[in-house]
Amino acid sequence: MPTDTPLSIQAALALGAERIDSDTARLDAELLLCHVLGKARSYLFTWPERELDPDQQAQFLALLQRRIAGEPVAHLTGVRDFWTLSLEVTPDTLIPRPDTETLVEAALARLADAPYRVADLGTGTGAIALALASERPHWQVVATDRVAAAAALAARNRDRLGLDNVEVLTGSWCEPLSGQFDMILSNPPYIDAADPHLAQGDVRFEPRSALVAAASGLADIRHIAEEALAYLKPGGWLLFEHGYAQGEPVRALLTGLGYAEVETLNDLGGHERVTLGRRP
Ligand code: GLN
Repeated sequence: MPTDTPLSIQAALALGAERIDSDTARLDAELLLCHVLGKARSYLFTWPERELDPDQQAQFLALLQRRIAGEPVAHLTGVRDFWTLSLEVTPDTLIPRPDTETLVEAALARLADAPYRVADLGTGTGAIALALASERPHWQVVATDRVAAAAALAARNRDRLGLDNVEVLTGSWCEPLSGQFDMILSNPPYIDAADPHLAQGDVRFEPRSALVAAASGLADIRHIAEEALAYLKPGGWLLFEHGYAQGEPVRALLTGLGYAEVETLNDLGGHERVTLGRRP
């Protein structure tokens, strides 16, 4: 890497776009450079000829090396945008993904802004709970995570965003909940341990416990669907994110447990991604 000659913003981005092996190489380089400069992306396009100072250049090149070695951009910058929110991210949780906005949209489409009680199980960064709370100030949202570091991260994101209508509890799935809910939703682990997807790209740096589930990836979905029956009000909604090939088994599972109005929604890529039902 050229560390001796000063790089312009434009040259730094071109270098990153060329060296990073990812579908999003150019964007990745932009996000790393914004992080180093402490500027918004628009700055990069306004001042393409501006040169990095030696410190900035050293920092950018160090981050670029780590990105080339595979580390996710969100781990290098410590932040990730989800919905309309900017969230702190650590290696303790899944990095929020655009696909999960399908789950948020499905939830918002089903309940208006009234004092509904809503639970997000396995909240990780808090992405789902916080997106919902930001759109529905009257909802009382409870977010749970069994991993204490994840619950602490979700609480920090909540506090930074000032979303006082979210309560974060440490514990497995429904276990820390009390009372009954109008909606329970989750993006649980749903990947089979043998899936080759786990050996490629950013997922290698995310916690296995947030990705992999037994029983062809369906074990946690099954566990939650059974447990949620005791925590949903009659007519309460249950919503899951799942893998694109899991729509049929998840519908069968919910129907078998007595959930009504079971249906599956597609993500932005046109794949089955969210299945929901109602407690009768
Ligand atoms: N959709 C994610 C992926 O494919 C997995 C998310 C999850 O397991 N909850 O990497």
